[in-house]
Amino acid sequence: MRRPTDAAALQRMLGAALGSREPVGPLAQLAGGKGAFDSLDPAVLERPTLIGGGALYTPTSPAPTAPAAEELVRHAQALDVPQILVPNVRRTDDSRALRAAGFLPYAADPECVVRLTGDVDELLRARVGGGRQRALRRCHDAVSRDLTWERIRVSDLGGQPWARDAFVELHRHRAERHGGGHNPYNAQALDALVDGPLADRAEMVVRRRGSTVVQVALTVTSHNGRGLYHLTQAIDPAAYDPVSERGLHEAALYGLYLDARRAGLHWVHLGPGNTDGKRSLGADLFVPLDHWLRAEGVTVPEDTGEEPALSRFAAPPVTTVPVPGPARARNQPRFDTIDLSSNTNPFLGAAGQYPHLDTTELARTYLDTISKLPGHQGTGALTPDHLLFSSGSVDGVMLLLAALASPGESVCVTPPTFPLYAHFARLLRLPLVEVPLGGDDLAELDTERILAADPRVTILCDPNNPVGTRLDPAQVRALVAGARGLVVIDEAYVEFSEKPSYAGLVAEHDNLIVLRTLSKAWALAGARCGIALARPGIIDALRRVQVPFGFTDASQAAVRDRLTNTRRPLAAIRHIRAERDRMAGLLADHPAVERVFPSEANFLLVRLHQHERVMEQLHHAGIVVADVSFLIPGTCRISIGNRRANDALLAAFSAAL
Ligand code: PMP
Repeated sequence: MRRPTDAAALQRMLGAALGSREPVGPLAQLAGGKGAFDSLDPAVLERPTLIGGGALYTPTSPAPTAPAAEELVRHAQALDVPQILVPNVRRTDDSRALRAAGFLPYAADPECVVRLTGDVDELLRARVGGGRQRALRRCHDAVSRDLTWERIRVSDLGGQPWARDAFVELHRHRAERHGGGHNPYNAQALDALVDGPLADRAEMVVRRRGSTVVQVALTVTSHNGRGLYHLTQAIDPAAYDPVSERGLHEAALYGLYLDARRAGLHWVHLGPGNTDGKRSLGADLFVPLDHWLRAEGVTVPEDTGEEPALSRFAAPPVTTVPVPGPARARNQPRFDTIDLSSNTNPFLGAAGQYPHLDTTELARTYLDTISKLPGHQGTGALTPDHLLFSSGSVDGVMLLLAALASPGESVCVTPPTFPLYAHFARLLRLPLVEVPLGGDDLAELDTERILAADPRVTILCDPNNPVGTRLDPAQVRALVAGARGLVVIDEAYVEFSEKPSYAGLVAEHDNLIVLRTLSKAWALAGARCGIALARPGIIDALRRVQVPFGFTDASQAAVRDRLTNTRRPLAAIRHIRAERDRMAGLLADHPAVERVFPSEANFLLVRLHQHERVMEQLHHAGIVVADVSFLIPGTCRISIGNRRANDALLAAFSAAL
């Protein structure tokens, strides 16, 4: 949709549905069931309201320009209507004209979209899991056995009066069942659609049992012919029970995806709705929407936000440069625009386009996923503004050093630890301060020395690679609270640990950055996806130094699929932990081993009696482990593999004796 002429056509439909030339009615009636206005005074809900700049039907239209907003206000005055509602405006649209004309935003349910690339079954399997995908298909197949399914172009409805009658009848019952509010899909609305400019792009989808219509839906192809808007559907009340309605509903959507895909369409728009429910139908793009209301005596419920102030740690010239060109469009969903801006070749498929820059929903999915993990208190309060996807978490280290440290400012690392921190600091010519970890388990920070060194950035690794231990949380918290500079905590392995993450703390501290990755517990090293969590002012600074388009569509899809199907990865994490503990026990008793360090990661650091001999034997057996004797004498780091690999390692250890 997204075209003012399309919006005007829907508005005429609404006027027809209301039985008047103008789409005017009490706000409560027009917005029935829309929770956005729950906070309003009942008097406001009862006042006549003009619907403008869009219609209450689900497709969104572009936010009005300043002249259009002013014209709306004049129009309402001429009609003597005291209130105006501009419904379903995308939050990413430019809403300055609305605000200037006295409109206020009310958060609505997001617009839910199923993006279709490739095979529908494969896509759903990845997105909603195999069980759910099979259920959708089974439901569709079962329904298709005893119901016929046909599609009628709305412009051809004149020859099919039974379909028109069934549409009207089923929608009348539907409105009654839903509390008897206003029915925007009555005969007059349908006639206005048939006579209007959308008729050639609108279709009725009908299921019949014999000659009885049991379900009827309405769809419109988008202005650019690449997607489908699912406007409405109603189901025979005689066939109505919660189970069969749900079944028919889901079967219809699954059928629509198949048809849309066969027709070469790229997406199906399911309308505003509950994110979790629509996600389980394969939706993977959620566009935030607001209803904008102009009414006397109402105050703004929330400020949808100014750009966050840049962090005080942002180092020049980061303070003065913008986010590189196209990244400024990162909150613009690209799925239903005609893009003639990128000088790409449009003829050879989706890979010819640059990746989506709008990763807001994926960020939300990540935060939602981790907020349900044990030890992640506080992460539920984080927003996509607290998160940056990077090309693996190591890229995050490079970005933060480049954005937040100036020449001459020092970087502190705590050896033995992940060597890449020092590597990047050296590459960026930043002075390095090394403050070794202490204690038998190499888990004690020398916080006094770190604080005395007063580094610009201190990078901790927790659980620490290559040791596997967790740092003392009291010491970490003291460091974050006491440091004048930034503290970075690399939590690459934290999902394998029983102890809490620090991710929930980033909202409280403006000097804390937590790095995460999907390479380890989430088994997506190939997708190259790291995550930096920090205050929005820091994230903004990191964006300014990031190379645009590093997060490919294929990687985004892999990440989305993994994060929305957490059963298998979570089971694998449990399995790896158990196997780690089994291996730790067996290795501790092994005569080749002097010591196994306690581990809360998916690897074990082992000190060997005869390091060289064992390494040679492993080499001979074709087993590769990380020889970290250059960091901690006499040791190697062993990743937890599958049972066969782990047993092969134990056998090779025995052979070295
Ligand atoms: N941090 C630590 C502590 C690691 O051990 C590793 C991988 N060896 C990484 C980061 C790299 O993760 P990514 O694949 O996300 O770059």
